[in-house]
Amino acid sequence: MARSVLVTGGNRGIGLAIARHLAAKGDNVAVTHRGSGAPEGLFGVRADVTDTEQIDAAFKQIEEHQGPVEVLVSNAGITDDTLLMRMSEDQFTRVLDANLAGAYRVAKRASRGMLRAKWGRMVFISSVVALSGGAGQVNYAASKAGLVGVARSITRELGSRNITANVVAPGFVVTDMTDALTEEQRSSALAQIPAGRYGQADEIANAVGFLASDEAAYINGAVLPVDGGLGMGH
Ligand code: NDP
Repeated sequence: MARSVLVTGGNRGIGLAIARHLAAKGDNVAVTHRGSGAPEGLFGVRADVTDTEQIDAAFKQIEEHQGPVEVLVSNAGITDDTLLMRMSEDQFTRVLDANLAGAYRVAKRASRGMLRAKWGRMVFISSVVALSGGAGQVNYAASKAGLVGVARSITRELGSRNITANVVAPGFVVTDMTDALTEEQRSSALAQIPAGRYGQADEIANAVGFLASDEAAYINGAVLPVDGGLGMGH
């Protein structure tokens, strides 16, 4: 039976690849957007993950359209890189609010329906820098590391109800986010990737698809790197 899926930030980039992957497997997939609308074949709900009221309204629309969210992919995220010495408090808190508090907000709202259904899948999109750190990314790395604590705490709270909460930690994936980096930043990242190439959004989607499946029922609180070996050792 088609499951009700929500992918935050599923209107483009990695989120869109995840949304398309799950839709191709037969799920009903909703995606959030902040004004761009939803790509063909996906149900778009307008929501900014920094706004609890917008999230609640989006969930209500999804519930009416395709039923309570059974699979949540918390993917929406931003970067605002700069060295610690120059990082303003606003730059720090804005990134934490979108990437970490945003994930908390959607997970909390989704948990209601999952508890009622006694079944659910949550997948949080973190990053290789969550565990390795990244120069210029005190805000971003902190937000992505925080997702590990979020997922593992949810696992302890809800694991006995057939609800799993896992983390996918992508390495360097070709999207608008990485297109914004300088050529020098991109080639220095490439030099450190054992696979010798950047990742593709579809490769992240494959991992998310597995964690969201019935086959992954006994995988809970895990951090799955999808990074060509970039983060090995953590
Ligand atoms: P993009 O910049 O291509 O897309 C970001 C997505 O997040 C967009 O859909 C954007 O929506 C959405 N978004 C951002 N802020 C908010 C918000 N406040 N409310 C709702 N939606 C929001 O990024 P990627 O596809 O590359 O990244 C997706 C996820 O993967 C992010 O969490 C990122 O940190 C993570 N990641 C990416 C890596 C990479 O190499 N690309 C590596 C590791 C992790 P809108 O279109 O409205 O702006």
